[in-house]
Amino acid sequence: MTDTDAEVAGLALEMIESNLRAGTLTISRETVPTCRACGHMTGTGGHPCNACGSTDALDRTGLYLVAEVAEDRPVLDRSDIHASHRQQPKHLQNIASNVAERLILSRTRDHGIDLSPLGLDGLVLDPRAGIHAAVLAAARRHEADTAVMTITENAANHIAAHGQHFREHNGIRLQYALHGHLPYDHTASLQPLYEAYRATQAVKDGFEAWFLPLFSLRTKAVTRPDQLPALFKHYMRAHLGKPVALDEAAFEAVQRAASAGDTEWITNKQALANVMAAREIARAATVEI
Ligand SMILES: [Zn+2]
Repeated sequence: MTDTDAEVAGLALEMIESNLRAGTLTISRETVPTCRACGHMTGTGGHPCNACGSTDALDRTGLYLVAEVAEDRPVLDRSDIHASHRQQPKHLQNIASNVAERLILSRTRDHGIDLSPLGLDGLVLDPRAGIHAAVLAAARRHEADTAVMTITENAANHIAAHGQHFREHNGIRLQYALHGHLPYDHTASLQPLYEAYRATQAVKDGFEAWFLPLFSLRTKAVTRPDQLPALFKHYMRAHLGKPVALDEAAFEAVQRAASAGDTEWITNKQALANVMAAREIARAATVEI
């Protein structure tokens, strides 16, 4: 789902309206630097206009959607992060707090969630806030009470303040799960290892499209290309050690760990093998249906 979906735009407007009633968002008259050539908001600091490249800005006064950053709680606290106690990103929580007390949430762009229903003609919701509405709309469609958004630490730092009033609505809440960077440009170097293990396409796909993303949730930092062979061997050991019958108790333990944001099972061969067996059973059941 994206912020161009009517369902997302509808939910975003609902959230803005309830925040306006609560006073956490306001519509107020502000003076902001605006491109003289095209009318795009340029922000402070004399950057060239993002829309047309002009450096000629003037201060324009008008109505904008403004967020008051809460003073009684940090921009990000433990409940906003899907992680076990030991994996809480203290550094992120500190840097995310370095924001202005008031943030302008409306933007001059040609696409995005249109704010004209609120009387803000020609303005859209800042996509850093809008992305939260997209995630919550997906959660609502799945009747989930919690949505976990996977995101890098940098991106979370970039959107956390703008999302502060968009992470909970009507009993549905959004949490961030941080993930690291994967060396996808280097997976071709695994070819000789794939051949040595006679890995089928399904095994390679399982490693690259299923296991590596999981591993990036486990590590949070950058995974180096020279770590890939050891990771593939770990994955293959689990693949070859898959139990014939699922260990239900061990599988439920992994489900509980995953719900709590604990990622240690991903590097535990037996736990991983059991989850891989469960996936195969689920896939076979789907084919039968
Ligand atoms: Zn411009």
